[in-house]
Amino acid sequence: MTVYFDHNASSPLLPEALEVMLPLFSGRHGNASSLHGSGRLLRSAIESARDQVARLVGVGPQQVIFTSGGTEANNLALKGTVDTCASPSLMSSPIEHASLLEPLRQLQRKGAQLSWLEVDASGRVALEGLAERLAEPQPEWLSLQRANNETGVLQPVAEVAEIARRQGVRLLHCDATQAAGKIPLDFNELGVDLMTLSAHKFGGPQGMGALVIRPGLRFEALLAGGPQEQQRRAGTENAALIAGFGKAAEMAQNQLPERQAFLLELRTHFEARLKEIDGVVIFGEAAERLPNTCFFAIPFYHGETLLMELDKAGFALASGSACHSEVTRPSHVLTAMGVDEDLALNAVRASFGMENSLQQVDRLIDALHNRINQLPPALRQHSG
Ligand code: PMP
Repeated sequence: MTVYFDHNASSPLLPEALEVMLPLFSGRHGNASSLHGSGRLLRSAIESARDQVARLVGVGPQQVIFTSGGTEANNLALKGTVDTCASPSLMSSPIEHASLLEPLRQLQRKGAQLSWLEVDASGRVALEGLAERLAEPQPEWLSLQRANNETGVLQPVAEVAEIARRQGVRLLHCDATQAAGKIPLDFNELGVDLMTLSAHKFGGPQGMGALVIRPGLRFEALLAGGPQEQQRRAGTENAALIAGFGKAAEMAQNQLPERQAFLLELRTHFEARLKEIDGVVIFGEAAERLPNTCFFAIPFYHGETLLMELDKAGFALASGSACHSEVTRPSHVLTAMGVDEDLALNAVRASFGMENSLQQVDRLIDALHNRINQLPPALRQHSG
């Protein structure tokens, strides 16, 4: 059986989430907008889940808009609010997920101004010089992720939001897709107007997420149609997926301290043993990171080759970002951190989850040593 170390790409569906979803898939017919008993049952499942998701991030349920995932929520956060900007001037970090970078570039092609936050060598957005950067051109809309999916590096969202507000930035968005369920996450503490969540990154179903919004925010729906989600996202709700999302959110909230401690124990053990390998580099090691993520490179081993070898040996990891794993360009995150291209092409990510164990981590390290020992000695050298 393959050992799964790719939880940042997608985490296994929790059995408890599946349990609440199954009856909604199989036995219960109807539409949550219908007034009959079946409809009311679905409505009640959806509203309970809205409460659960809202509690995970410390907001009221009316602030949660269910979407088809993090990608839709990121698109909605940008495209649903940008029309309220006088002359769109946007700012974000170059290490965001494609589901934010691409809509930003779309708007740039249509004439919006787009500027970038600076990222330091540790993978963290730099606070130094931020006020000046925000002065010219003055952005009206700014987005910064809470945790990076590749390095796991945590971003100073609350600090950036405070400085940005002082400088007159009107709309602040945070992609918290990778942070939810892994570290404490409070919408109000971040001081943003919009926040993206995705269910499948913490044990909920794929194809489900949410955009969390500040009460009273002016906002235009992307999908026009029926009045679902307070007219912010039309279309019949997928009650089963929403219920699974709610359950996963409730479990994440209840189990957060244990999860953090366990995942950190796995990663600490992994990294201590990883450093037995000559010249190994851990990206973002100097910064605060998600407890479950280790993005590393063995200088003499190409990342995708290593990934295939590990796959054959029964371990599922990711090279660069799993979302663009068919592309062999170096990761845009490592490029923004100023990592040398050859080293960046060797990058491999291990992202741990609650069903992993220290024994599995040891087996992965043994497999790494095994692969390395099979290389001809001349190739095993780390050139410095
Ligand atoms: N943002 C980040 C930081 C992500 O890691 C991902 C998923 N890789 C997304 C957004 C997109 O989420 P989804 O898969 O739910 O569309």
